[in-house]
Amino acid sequence: MDHHRSHALFARARELMPGGVNSPVRAFKSVGGEPFFAQRADGPFLFDVDGNRYIDFVGSWGPMVAGHNHPAVLEAVVRTARDGLSFGVPNPLEVTMAETIARLVPSCQMLRMVNSGTEATLSAIRLARGATGRARIVKFEGCYHGHGDSFLVKAGSGALTFGVPTSPGVPKALADLTLTLPYNDFDAATALFDECGGDIAGLIIEPVVGNANCLPPRPGFLQHLRELCTRHGTILIFDEVMTGFRVALGGAQARYGVTPDLTTFGKVIGGGMPVGAYGGRRDLMEQVSPSGPIYQAGTLSGNPVAMAAGLAMLELVQAPGFHNALEATSNALCDGLEAAARDAGVPFTSNRVGGMFGLFFSAEKVDTYAQAMACDVAAFNRFFHAMLERGVYLAPSAYEAGFVSSAHGDTEIATTIAAAREAFRVAKGG
Ligand SMILES: *Cc1c(COP(=O)(O)O)cnc(C)c1O
Repeated sequence: MDHHRSHALFARARELMPGGVNSPVRAFKSVGGEPFFAQRADGPFLFDVDGNRYIDFVGSWGPMVAGHNHPAVLEAVVRTARDGLSFGVPNPLEVTMAETIARLVPSCQMLRMVNSGTEATLSAIRLARGATGRARIVKFEGCYHGHGDSFLVKAGSGALTFGVPTSPGVPKALADLTLTLPYNDFDAATALFDECGGDIAGLIIEPVVGNANCLPPRPGFLQHLRELCTRHGTILIFDEVMTGFRVALGGAQARYGVTPDLTTFGKVIGGGMPVGAYGGRRDLMEQVSPSGPIYQAGTLSGNPVAMAAGLAMLELVQAPGFHNALEATSNALCDGLEAAARDAGVPFTSNRVGGMFGLFFSAEKVDTYAQAMACDVAAFNRFFHAMLERGVYLAPSAYEAGFVSSAHGDTEIATTIAAAREAFRVAKGG
């Protein structure tokens, strides 16, 4: 594969942008090598500036649940853009968006639009703190909630110790307020709440982890957290930036039948435009400014073109059987990859939840962060590059979930599995 144009662009980009990118994982640091630069995308495919075509299992990290460049989304964007790009006063599409989300995710009795998933989680945490008058928050190891200071924190030694910043620039004093628990560990959560539940403003979780590979919740785990939060007056926040409208029409909360107090969204609800939202219980959301005292604002929030793109996408995901078909695609892909790995003699397993999946170079099933971290990263990296050379683009890190879309058909899945039959042999060769 020729990559000379991408190579030249990356050289220019590195002069002016940290690592040559505007978001770290795009730099391919985890898998090695250099990223390719996209020229365009269509359906299940990405095309790079050198004219190479890839079957894309990243989908812009989640938004493209109906495939790239869907004509209905494109049409909505173009039609809306003709009337102006931003108004700074309310527009009708914001109302339709709030009504649409509230109808599909009934725990969201009220909503506020923002411009990214990061903004949504930051705002939800502020609301939880403001509403409870408490300062501490709880997150889970391996869960990513955007790049806000309070979330860039890992566990100290032992669950009850103060959090440790994972990035310079996060004040220790703030990290101290973030407690970290192991995902899918019932007893650790119980112990933490027994110790200091009365101090915890909010607990935030990816109900299906998609940022430490893909880890589904153990049966009853989310219910357990719901009960702990209810008992201790803690706000339960589901970060559905990734899972929303992807693992089920009503998100993970519908799939697992657990109702959070607040929910954060992003990715799919923007249809590819920069959008986030948070919503939840009316009595909580009414405390957000200007109806309440908890401040939060945004110059471009509810942007008409972004709303139009998101509404068109949300229309598509409401097609009957959309999510069953998406899950069938994930299953076909993952079953095929497992069979190919078995034939190649490579220890390998997978997880799938709706339109997201996880690939693990591991002999055992994986549902904890520790297990995900223990997988054979070198084998994944060899596999990644062997797939890329064969025109299949997987997430460029062993610790990211993959995504299918409704545009991925039998042909793309078969082509991917055929490529994997060769790539597993490369991965094994190491
Ligand atoms: C992507 C993501 C975010 C951050 O969203 P941005 O739009 O990148 O700021 C937050 N939470 C989860 C679960 C995500 O997957």
